[in-house]
Amino acid sequence: MKSAALEWLALFGLLAGTYLATGLALRVLTQTGTMARRRLRERSHPTPPWRDIRRSLANLGLMAGLLLTGRYLQAAGFGFAPMALSPLSAVLTFAASLVLFDTWFYWSHRLLHTGWLFKHLHAEHHRTTHPTAWSTNNDAALDTLIAHLYWAIAIFLIPIHPGVLLFHKVYDQVTGTIGHCGHEMPGRVNGRWLPFLTVTHHDQHHERFRCNYATHFIFWDTLCGTLAPDYRARLDGIMEAAP
Ligand SMILES: [Zn+2]
Ligand SMILES: [Zn+2]
Repeated sequence: MKSAALEWLALFGLLAGTYLATGLALRVLTQTGTMARRRLRERSHPTPPWRDIRRSLANLGLMAGLLLTGRYLQAAGFGFAPMALSPLSAVLTFAASLVLFDTWFYWSHRLLHTGWLFKHLHAEHHRTTHPTAWSTNNDAALDTLIAHLYWAIAIFLIPIHPGVLLFHKVYDQVTGTIGHCGHEMPGRVNGRWLPFLTVTHHDQHHERFRCNYATHFIFWDTLCGTLAPDYRARLDGIMEAAP
């Protein structure tokens, strides 16, 4: 019991540290250089950041619990046994996990935009139509449990090593925090030649609510017709205005 509490604390520390370090780095990066010039919309954040930070940290505690649950289930023989860790197995299971989590997140996120679930759970995340990096995990607790249940059940889907799954969660934390910062990233490769999503993608989700539901890739929104029709045009416009 004591070791479980210590493990949870270590996981929470890692996730919270990643969230805070990414948020602080973005405070600097969005005030200078290319990212400063790539501001997507005029900002008017209605709540002070400490509220978003407090709620995000609480939800990161829940996510640490979900990761720990999956790890303990796997150690007890449930789900797939983890593949022996090697560069090849790490790359393969990380790539598979990106696709699986994106699928889980897309469909659970669409579900959270329906009726009772939106009104009582997901509306909290949409309280701000102008998110900041600190808004990343500002969700109702049950919203977090639904959209992030993947971290506990991934072991039933792929033979992923707990270290690789944790690496994926840290990656998700960094990209999720960037996705709320309101400034497009430098460069043109991402969002144009690669299928990875951009800040513009999730910023449009907060602006309009009923489009752009995915988190890692553009596939599901394109396939299901939920990609904002002017997504690429807006992205190109931002990149051309601030190369
Ligand atoms: Zn969001
Ligand atoms: Zn949403």
